[in-house]
Amino acid sequence: MIEDKNPQRTPLEQLGEFGLIDHLTKNFKIKKSSSIKGIGDDAAVLDFKDKQVVVTTDLLVENVHFDLSYMPLKHLGYKAVVVNLSDVYAMNATATQITVSIAVSNRFPLEALEALYAGIETAASIYDIDVVGGDTTSSTTGLLISVTAIGEVDKDDVVYRNGAKPNDLVVLTGDIGAAYMGLQVLEREKEVFKVNPENQPDLDAYTYIIERQLKPEARKDIVELLKDLEVKPTAMMDVSDGLSSEIIHICKQSKVGVELYESKIPLDPEVISVCEEFKIDSTTIALNGGEDYELLMTIAQEDFEKIKGNPNLTVIGFITEEARGMNLITRGEQVIPIIAKGWNALGDH
Ligand SMILES: [Mg+2]
Repeated sequence: MIEDKNPQRTPLEQLGEFGLIDHLTKNFKIKKSSSIKGIGDDAAVLDFKDKQVVVTTDLLVENVHFDLSYMPLKHLGYKAVVVNLSDVYAMNATATQITVSIAVSNRFPLEALEALYAGIETAASIYDIDVVGGDTTSSTTGLLISVTAIGEVDKDDVVYRNGAKPNDLVVLTGDIGAAYMGLQVLEREKEVFKVNPENQPDLDAYTYIIERQLKPEARKDIVELLKDLEVKPTAMMDVSDGLSSEIIHICKQSKVGVELYESKIPLDPEVISVCEEFKIDSTTIALNGGEDYELLMTIAQEDFEKIKGNPNLTVIGFITEEARGMNLITRGEQVIPIIAKGWNALGDH
């Protein structure tokens, strides 16, 4: 579907492993004061002084987590970094470093890896993090990419999933469901393309949802905003697997219940119209779609005045006693138990 605009194909064997690492990482500059030593020794050396350190890692596998027939490699590099940073921000921490490891088969020329690393470099620059290490190795099948992200946080600022209390407000950043519907459009166009390769897809009506799928952003800005507003959430996590699965995690770990309001769930108009086109219920997508990388948090009632009217933050419900269960209140005021159908990376998509 995506035309190869770069027909040059340099085999990886020409560089050898160390030559390849040098070549791919030569543009990475160390910027953070906590990075004492980056790439180039046996290990990176980091110094976080009196901060607590958060570490998170993710492994992405070709044809399980991404499909290169519509995912440009530059976007893949960018997304692989962003999805990890999202988990750092979900701890209310600042991301500082990443390591990147890839396994790649010989069907990928050097130019493909250059595109992948260009995306990684763009993300590192936009999110102000250092790339301090990694590994490259060969794979017999497709491409695997693993990113480990490291961040720092003051001891008093770290936010876990288990601190939600009855009467806390449930707050969501941005809007949800778009990445999942973007994937549906890309999958549909892929099938059309298989039948007729001459048919270049017209995706103008789907710009937002496709961008949310191919080039998601992590909410670094929200960690900064919460600091400015002097709001410390009682619990927080990122929305990677769908709203229902994430709110269940918070409720179970916090031993509380929840009431979410269908009418409050923020959806982009493009999501609503594409759901109509696909004849899917948009609330189902909001609850069970995935890969939005927004932040879901609970905050104390007394902090409501501080967040009221902020366009980035929407109150979608409130926390209850555990015995009341986890429920969605529909527009028709029906009470429906929330269950995790979720986005399952190991599932059949
Ligand atoms: Mg997460």
